[in-house]
Amino acid sequence: MDGALRVKRMTDQELAGKRVLIREDLNVPVADGKVTSDARIRAALPTIQLAVRAGARVMVMSHLGRPVEGAFDPAQSLAPVAERLTELLGTKVRLVRDWLDGVEIAPGEVVLCENVRFNAGEKKDDEALSRRMAALCDVFVMDAFGTAHRAEASTHGVARYAPIACAGPLLAGELEALGKALEHPKRPLVAIVAGSKVSTKLTVLEALTRKVDKLIVGGGIANTFIAAAGHKVGRSLMEADLIPEAKRLMEAARARGGEIPVPTDVVVADRFAADAEADVRRVDAVGEGEMILDIGPDTAERLAGILKEAGTIVWNGPVGVFEFDQFGEGTRVLAEAIAASPAFSIAGGGDTLAAVDKYEVADRISYVSTGGGAFLEFLEGRTLPAVAMLESRAQG
Ligand code: ADP
Ligand code: MG
Repeated sequence: MDGALRVKRMTDQELAGKRVLIREDLNVPVADGKVTSDARIRAALPTIQLAVRAGARVMVMSHLGRPVEGAFDPAQSLAPVAERLTELLGTKVRLVRDWLDGVEIAPGEVVLCENVRFNAGEKKDDEALSRRMAALCDVFVMDAFGTAHRAEASTHGVARYAPIACAGPLLAGELEALGKALEHPKRPLVAIVAGSKVSTKLTVLEALTRKVDKLIVGGGIANTFIAAAGHKVGRSLMEADLIPEAKRLMEAARARGGEIPVPTDVVVADRFAADAEADVRRVDAVGEGEMILDIGPDTAERLAGILKEAGTIVWNGPVGVFEFDQFGEGTRVLAEAIAASPAFSIAGGGDTLAAVDKYEVADRISYVSTGGGAFLEFLEGRTLPAVAMLESRAQG
């Protein structure tokens, strides 16, 4: 790998008067019909504005949540996103419910296509659906880094059949920044992998341990390692099936002369609730009815010390239930250690970004990525399917 992107770029295309279909990741949290965190919408804004200024007829598409395919569901409509996008752009963004047969758009106008996951065949990367999407446009722009690890009709199939398929500035920027940081990272390279998606994340750790010098685990992943180390974890979030895998990873790290640090103290509660009382315990003293909801203060200090020595830090996943303040200290201490560290630091993931916002460290992190799963797969060294498709289209 030479680090250069082998894809066409939106910024090199002639867009005036063209029908430009842009795939963004506008999968944002929505409550009571309102967008509660618009970070992903703001990240997509420069791409949309660029296309508008170039005089394109702009169609934006995105998924939201996980609706049942083949039916419209008002609860998973992009209507709140259209509303927020209208505010941020300062011009009306029309939400189109039925868009697969074509949309009337004037040059410089922006329409938002309703949730791509309402279309049967989206997740299966269906050919007929992909062709219908491709027929809508002169130029397809893939700009959704957060979904680039999934081969779906709106991220991958459409790029195969569109007259031109290129990368938008947000996607290109993400790939370049991550590529640059991870190709020749300043050592030691420390990765924090935490959060609640235990099975998906734990299974990437194997490949990750070969790339990084030190792996820090937190959240439900750490709980699985705590159990693998022979401690009782009560009712904590963890994946019993993956205990053998965690044991193997710990032994492999030891064989290489390192270790995956297992928490020595933890914060527990007897229930998962905003008003639950937090208690600090030694890791070998967790009660049967208790849940581990954060790393303890000694552990947080020890991990902060590792981060202080790092040359590069990649962070995905909060190490505790930071949404409740009494279980947020571990995440806060690590966030601040990352912010204070001279290392090149990258943070990615939906909830990780919420933690970055909560602890106000965004401007002291070198690069904030919009991707979660995609970010981990990239880190692992895998080619993202949507990017591979753009590469193959750039060759013809
Ligand atoms: P991201 O979106 O950044 O990829 P995840 O979705 O995997 O991260 O995980 C984030 C969630 O993990 C947060 O909502 C947080 O409350 C939860 N979490 C962290 N630690 C624990 C824990 N020990 N037990 C239960 N949930 C946890
Ligand atoms: Mg999440």
